[in-house]
Amino acid sequence: MRENPRIALLGFSIECNRFVPPVGREGFRCWLEGEEILRDARAVAPVALAEMPGFVAEMDAAGPWRPCPILLAMAEPNGPVEQPLFDAMLAQWRAGLEALRGAVDGVYCVMHGAGLATGMDDPEGTIQAMIREVLGEGVPLVCSYDLHANVSDEMVRHCDAFVGYRTNPHLDMRERGAESARLLRRLLAGERFHRAFRRLPIVAPTVSLLTAHGPYAEVIDLGQERLAALGPGRVVNVSAMAGFAYGDTPFNGFAIVVTGADAAACEALARELAEAAWARRGRFVARLTPLAEAVERALTSEVPLAFADVADNPGGGGGGNTMFILRAFHEAGVRDAIFGVIHDPALAAEAHALGRGARFTARFNRDREGHDGAAADFAHPFAAEAEVVALSDGRVTGRRGIFARTAMRLGPTAALRMGGITVVVISRRTQCADPAFLEHLGLDIGAARAVVVKSRGHFRGGFDEFFSNGRIVEVDAPGLTSPILDRFHWTRLPRPVLPLDPETRWSPA
Ligand SMILES: [Zn+2]
Repeated sequence: MRENPRIALLGFSIECNRFVPPVGREGFRCWLEGEEILRDARAVAPVALAEMPGFVAEMDAAGPWRPCPILLAMAEPNGPVEQPLFDAMLAQWRAGLEALRGAVDGVYCVMHGAGLATGMDDPEGTIQAMIREVLGEGVPLVCSYDLHANVSDEMVRHCDAFVGYRTNPHLDMRERGAESARLLRRLLAGERFHRAFRRLPIVAPTVSLLTAHGPYAEVIDLGQERLAALGPGRVVNVSAMAGFAYGDTPFNGFAIVVTGADAAACEALARELAEAAWARRGRFVARLTPLAEAVERALTSEVPLAFADVADNPGGGGGGNTMFILRAFHEAGVRDAIFGVIHDPALAAEAHALGRGARFTARFNRDREGHDGAAADFAHPFAAEAEVVALSDGRVTGRRGIFARTAMRLGPTAALRMGGITVVVISRRTQCADPAFLEHLGLDIGAARAVVVKSRGHFRGGFDEFFSNGRIVEVDAPGLTSPILDRFHWTRLPRPVLPLDPETRWSPA
């Protein structure tokens, strides 16, 4: 091994919902080129999510190395990436690697794993194949993935170590980046790893995939127990990847990837975990609270409750702008409620122009007015009398959960009081996963009787100090990220698949 290994750094992280319109460059919240990647990774509050900062910190701590940063692009979940943009990114990574050919010792790649491009179902597999084409088989490649990755054969074949998140909400991104650095150091020292891979015909609804408890937690925990028992000389990583239904690819499905030096042990463990997941298949289902019942609970609950608008989750490609719950709560006269956060740049701009204390008619989704509420993305117009109670530029450093320590940019932001409800309106679409999104406007979450969040599950990692799991209501409203999967027109999922097709069969052989 070289004393001072040269490591190429790159990343492509976006979760793509097939039912959302394509996204271009404007969708990438974090776009870092060259040395910017390292400056950001070593900053107090990086723009990038925590894998690259975790990787860089671990590499720095373990000894000398020479980073060769190329391009790290990360986006809020959205529609498929416009193909010309993805092609340009691929060309940029390729050019960066070609410049390093013969002079690079390893590669770390931050992936999400549920990316799509408009003309391509597997951009991550394509990136990895390109890396191999440029650098050959001998240069170690470690990739880290979100557990919502839809794992293709290519994604497993081309990397030397496959590292998936183990927590949902995602609280271990930094640790998985650091783990990737440790595995890359071992590969640089000459170790070689096998990957065992199993995919099941299970496309689990998002809300059934928490890792604090439930069937997914049991499979992950079993994998970690076995990993500890086998020891790091035989198996180095166990990743149970639940996937992202709305990617709608031919390779969707709950997947197990086991990386290690002992191929037989990896294969046996992958099979055991696949069987364990299959045995729990009847528990990967969505049980939501009907909207009318949610309204009733908001009106009558003795204790404060959090209501999750799981079907309009920007963290799964939702617009963060549907009005079903807001309208119902407002019409029912729910009081002491906070809604966070609605994406409506026009309304936020109007509130800023009017100023604090102004009273006006807040018109949500004004660009859809006159469309008879038929918008395919479920963002219908809604208007109510409002007072501007707080304004901000939306620059917030995450305090807790998935965005902790991350520099977030919500754009011009306003808190509007509408009867007993205070609504936070933002200008850059983001899921409401961090209490700081509300608190920075002076809102008191602890004093609210109801908090409604546009988030599927990551809010749990941010709002847990206010709402235990028993005080969270997952509301069934229409939307682009509804966990009720038979409401979507699937075109590419492998069929039969659970839970859509009850007759689905699978056997480990
Ligand atoms: Zn995820």
